[in-house]
Amino acid sequence: MHSKLAADGRRDYYRGTMKVSGKRVLVTAGASGIGATVAQRFLQAGAHVHVCDIDERALQNFSAAHTEISASLCDVADEAAVDTLFEDLDARFGGLDVLVNNAGIAGPTGQIDTLQLSDWRRTLSVNVDSIFLCTRRALPMLKAADDASIVNMSSTAGFMGYPLRTPYASAKWAVIGLTKSLAMELGSLGIRVNAICPGPVAGERMDSVIAAEAQARGVATESVREGYAQTVSLSRFVDADEIADAILFLASPAARSISGQALAVDGHTETLVQR
Ligand code: NAD
Repeated sequence: MHSKLAADGRRDYYRGTMKVSGKRVLVTAGASGIGATVAQRFLQAGAHVHVCDIDERALQNFSAAHTEISASLCDVADEAAVDTLFEDLDARFGGLDVLVNNAGIAGPTGQIDTLQLSDWRRTLSVNVDSIFLCTRRALPMLKAADDASIVNMSSTAGFMGYPLRTPYASAKWAVIGLTKSLAMELGSLGIRVNAICPGPVAGERMDSVIAAEAQARGVATESVREGYAQTVSLSRFVDADEIADAILFLASPAARSISGQALAVDGHTETLVQR
């Protein structure tokens, strides 16, 4: 009952200046995790949604559960695969209003001298190259759209030091630099570009991040989990729904004067260092 009321309220909310109905939206890495929640939220708000993902099984399961959302198998760090994704998208929608560059992997956990170059490169590639590749292909479509926008997924690790996670922090800082530079390049075309910086989001991804950090630091998993909550002013993890709502806001006319921003949705992270 409570969730039905919440869903009805959200539909009303997205009828005013928060309106995203009718927009054509691409969410990368949308078969599970935050991307899947974002895709569903846009659909509920009346948008036309396409997702892509590298995980074929996850994509099949997502497509079976969400027949109104179209989908492509795609590694967004792969140039040829991104070309095919945009051919699929063009055939399906004939344009694009909102690009959500959500894809990003956690990468390895450990002191820098224990890390492999291949893991470093893959982390940078999935988190940053993907935005370059997708934005480059999306641009002709976004130029042709009214009130087009791009939302890039950074992290609180995009504006703070994050020991034992140097590839991830480097990638997410790069996402903010890319966002601000693109906002300047594309502003005169009326295309807005913003970044979202989630704090720890409750779910499988954080469970594996916490387990890896506990192992690297030789401490109990639960103490790492509590440490993450304690370093947030609101003393809790955030939900994927909260990230999705912030992305819908940035894609809506309510945010028509908002560009070049890195918006933290994190309960206010005070530090990413646990001692
Ligand atoms: P996740 O690890 O749950 O992965 C979500 C999806 O990404 C999966 O379906 C996976 O198959 C797909 N994916 C992975 N590599 C891909 C690739 N190369 N091409 C296409 N799809 C790919 O991630 P998440 O927790 O949903 O995170 C989504 C975004 O939010 C990422 O950019 C992440 O860095 C960022 N973020 C997450 C958190 C968190 O606590 N979960 C916090 C801050 C930022």
